[in-house]
Amino acid sequence: MDWKEGTADSCITEREAPRLAIVCPCYNEEATLGESLERLMDHLTQMSGEGLCLGDSFVLISDDGSRDSSWRIIEEWHRRYPERVHGIRLARNAGHQNAIMAGMTEAVGLGAEAVVTMDVDLQDDLQAVSDMLRSWREGYDVVYGVKVSREADPPLKRFTAKAFYRLQQRMGIEIVYNHADFRLLSSRVVRELSRYEERNLYLRGIIPHIGYPSTTVDDHLQPRRAGVSKYTFGKSLRLALDGITSFSVKPLYLTMALGGIYILVAIGIGIYVLASLLSGNAEHGWSSMMLSIWFVGGTTLIALGILGFYVGKTYIEVKHRPLYHIDRKI
Ligand code: UDP
Ligand code: MG
Repeated sequence: MDWKEGTADSCITEREAPRLAIVCPCYNEEATLGESLERLMDHLTQMSGEGLCLGDSFVLISDDGSRDSSWRIIEEWHRRYPERVHGIRLARNAGHQNAIMAGMTEAVGLGAEAVVTMDVDLQDDLQAVSDMLRSWREGYDVVYGVKVSREADPPLKRFTAKAFYRLQQRMGIEIVYNHADFRLLSSRVVRELSRYEERNLYLRGIIPHIGYPSTTVDDHLQPRRAGVSKYTFGKSLRLALDGITSFSVKPLYLTMALGGIYILVAIGIGIYVLASLLSGNAEHGWSSMMLSIWFVGGTTLIALGILGFYVGKTYIEVKHRPLYHIDRKI
């Protein structure tokens, strides 16, 4: 038994090469899918040749309800390589996080001992997958791919992503800086993950929470080869809001603090109005009263909005809806 740095509270042991599954969420990716599958298969062959994973490792594409020919491409590849390319198709577009969760669960069901999740556009570094398997061999259950360069991302995305990581850390959420959903998990972590019953899935927040031995590898992000980003501004904003409101109640406290400050301001204005009334200068009072009404009204609405967000989430959580429905399996 071997103690490793960075896992002070866990004991890790070296182990054999695993049966690996590379799981890729896929939404309308006909432009990249064929080339990506080719590169993934080549890399799997190379890694099993190097003894990093077993020869019966496979790729599993989780089709997140694509409307283009993605599923047909997956079927075609499965016909050519029935043991090495698997696919699931979600009945509708359930979102990136749910597509990943569905894919990982299926892959473990098919006998994978380790699962690497990566976007099907292969912007992440395939070499990093080999590094992840080296860390697996050392005994790690969770290996995070950490973006060391974001040159491939447009400037606005780089800026908002950075601000978002900082904001989450301020909110006390335990996340790995510059890590998205490119990671290796052991099958036991996937099984533990399925015990989290939340419907607003935010894997980046949950996985550090589970707490198995973990480490990081460097990921050199590449530009997208073909097709366009499927993460629209709306989807990114949704993920950001989910990330914060699923793991932190600090926004609630902040609203309360803000409410307190505004009440103090209102008292100040009240005193001013009273003083003007007593001194017979009442016409000034009208404008200050109007001002305070608007201010208080505004903050009340903000507070209600944030409260509504949490109440809304509670409502969704208590329904315990299934995360996804698989339409077909091959
Ligand atoms: N994706 C998905 N469902 C969605 C949106 C995206 O499964 O609703 C997949 C997409 O096919 C890709 C990955 O999630 O494999 C990341 O999306 P994308 O590359 O468009 O995001 P970006 O790299 O621009 O952040
Ligand atoms: Mg991408």
